[in-house]
Amino acid sequence: MFDSLKSELTRRTLLYKAGFGLITVSTFGTIGTILKPTRTLAQAGPAPTKEPSLPPEKKLGWAVVGLGKFATEQIMPSFGECKRSKLVALVSGDRTKAERLAQQYGVNQKNIYNYQNYDTIRDNPEVDVIYIILPNGLHAEYSIRGAQAGKHIMCEKPMANTVEECQAMIAAAKKSDRKLMIAYRAQYEPYNLAAIELAQSGKLGKLKAITSDHGRNLDPKDPADRWRANKKLAGGGSLYDIGIYSLQAARYITGEEPQEISAMSYSTPGDPRFREVEENVNFVLRFPSGVLANCTSSYGYSDTKRLQVFGSDAVLELDPATDYYQHRLIIKRKNSNEEQNIQEKNQFALEMDHLSESIMANKQPKTPGEEGLQDVRLMQLIYEAARTGKTIKV
Ligand code: NAD
Repeated sequence: MFDSLKSELTRRTLLYKAGFGLITVSTFGTIGTILKPTRTLAQAGPAPTKEPSLPPEKKLGWAVVGLGKFATEQIMPSFGECKRSKLVALVSGDRTKAERLAQQYGVNQKNIYNYQNYDTIRDNPEVDVIYIILPNGLHAEYSIRGAQAGKHIMCEKPMANTVEECQAMIAAAKKSDRKLMIAYRAQYEPYNLAAIELAQSGKLGKLKAITSDHGRNLDPKDPADRWRANKKLAGGGSLYDIGIYSLQAARYITGEEPQEISAMSYSTPGDPRFREVEENVNFVLRFPSGVLANCTSSYGYSDTKRLQVFGSDAVLELDPATDYYQHRLIIKRKNSNEEQNIQEKNQFALEMDHLSESIMANKQPKTPGEEGLQDVRLMQLIYEAARTGKTIKV
């Protein structure tokens, strides 16, 4: 996988002059020299996939549960770029919205369900996979009901509110002999895959440290942020929502599991957004190889999604690291900064097709329920470390 990825890499080299910082930016394509303009926000979006789609009969049928912001703005449009997955059913509490979206995406009106008749989806042979895109506190119930209806499950992150819920989801999928995958899109995204390869192949030297920061301002006026301030629906605060990306990055970059955790948490007193969930959590993870990861998570500062990997020979910077598109990867050495320009792909289509392919080949997906359970277990330990002020042994 990494070999094919490497062949996609072209190099944009930022010439570096000691003491003067970055002075020139030039772009070198593999054939000749092409000056590639930076894509503006107005042009934002993944580059279209060029390969033709496979015939429809080779695609598995997907149902989307919860037609909120992420489902309608990112996931549903991405089916158009899938090779193995097609949208065939919708589950929503809002019939009018579901009918409008069904028309827009060519979904048969008879394949619209609500939360009450959801279980009858078991009688619909067109649906192979159910994608749960509900508030976190509802992930367990709808994943379990979906598995009991005999369908494979893709569930959004975080997997669920508690370790026990995650275990029940895994058990339900196992009992029904269905696949359960957690939608950790960054693990399917080409820039993050390149960062993993660079870190784990020794190209940065011996890994010493990682920093990863994820932050944004929780907006109580945004309906999608209202449930995020509710502990029962969100499970936790910024850590459960976006700090999980910092935690994930530390784990997939090292390919290791942390042995020790320390943490501190702080929420602005009197801020109504943080009555039930936390604003900030900073945590440190110690990995068996000796790598120390400093991670931050916040609902109180401006958009941040970055990752730095410090090796004995080079430092890798991915910023943004976990956006939907327009990632930037720079490798800093003593006398040069090199930007790796990697072909952008639709990470949502890649992750959905990964589950469809795993089902077709009867293989365990790369990010199964156990991966989601591990993060929920670690996030609970991060809270415990912050609460007690003690370093926790995992
Ligand atoms: P959202 O509020 O826009 O969507 C949630 C949907 O659930 C809405 O359509 C809402 O009507 C429905 N819903 C059903 N029962 C509900 C209830 N009891 N309370 C509130 N809403 C209810 O939120 P979102 O931002 O789309 O997030 C949905 C899920 O997707 C979350 O688990 C979130 O973590 C995840 N997400 C993932 C990413 C990613 O990059 N992987 C990005 C954003 C959100």
